[in-house]
Amino acid sequence: MTDPDYLDDSYDRRFETTVTRTLDDRVTLERTLFYPEGGGQPADRGTLTDPDSGRTWRVSDVEKADTIYHHLAGETANATDDAGDGGGTDATSDIDGFETPTAGATVTGEIDWDRRYAHMRYHTAQHLLSALLLDEYDAETTGNQLYSDRARIDVGYDRFEDADLDAIEARMNALVDDGRSVASYEMDREAAEAELDPERTRLALLPASITEVRIVEIEGYDRTACAGTHVRDTEEIGTVSVSGRESRGSGEERVRLVLDS
Ligand SMILES: [Zn+2]
Repeated sequence: MTDPDYLDDSYDRRFETTVTRTLDDRVTLERTLFYPEGGGQPADRGTLTDPDSGRTWRVSDVEKADTIYHHLAGETANATDDAGDGGGTDATSDIDGFETPTAGATVTGEIDWDRRYAHMRYHTAQHLLSALLLDEYDAETTGNQLYSDRARIDVGYDRFEDADLDAIEARMNALVDDGRSVASYEMDREAAEAELDPERTRLALLPASITEVRIVEIEGYDRTACAGTHVRDTEEIGTVSVSGRESRGSGEERVRLVLDS
C-alpha cells in the first residue's frame, strides 16, 4: 500500500518517490501527496517528472482501491513558440502514445496546488457547515460533494427558509472569523466510539476491520472522523456565501456554498 503522505501535511505539494508498479496508463508509488478521490473530495491533479530524463507526465486522476493508482494522461513537453508572437507563455502539448515511467524509477511529484488548496478550504467549510446544521437545526449530514469552486451538502431537514439561510451564512462567517485551529490525529476506534458524538463521526459506517480512525478537530467546535485534507485555521476558508437550497425529496435538503476565490 502506498504511504498516504497527504494525511501528514496537507500543505506539502512536492515530493520524491519510487515507482512501484505500472499498469496501462496507471502507476503506483511508494508514497504520494496526490489525494485520491473520496469522502466527497475530488482527486488531485499534477505531474510526475523523471529528473534524469527530464520527462514529465500529467496526472489526470487518482483512485484508491487496494492501493493508490495515479492515472497518467500523457507526457508534456515545452513547446517552442514558432509563431514568434511574443506571448511569453510556455505552452505544453501532449505526446500521443506515451510510455509510462518504469517500476523502480525515482520520480518527483507535484500536485496542482491551486486546485488542492481550494478543496482544502471547501472541505473545512463543509465540516463547519455539517456541525452547525447538526447543532442548531438537528439536521444530520447524509452526503456531501465539493469542487474547487463550490460545495453542497445534503442533510435530513424539512425545509430551510430564506431567513434560515441568512442566519446560517452569518454563523458560518463568524466561525471562520474566529480563526479556530484545525488539527488531525489518529485515535483508537473504541475510544473514539466511546468519547465522540456518533451523529458527527458516523463511525458505525466504517468496516469492522478499521481499528484506528483519523479525527479532524475544529477547535472548540467539532470533532469528526475524516481522511481528507483541510486548512490549518478556519480563517483560511475566507468569506462564505450560502448560494442556495433545494429539496431532495421528503425530509432532505441540499444546501449550496460558494467561497470567495
Ligand atoms: Zn474532512
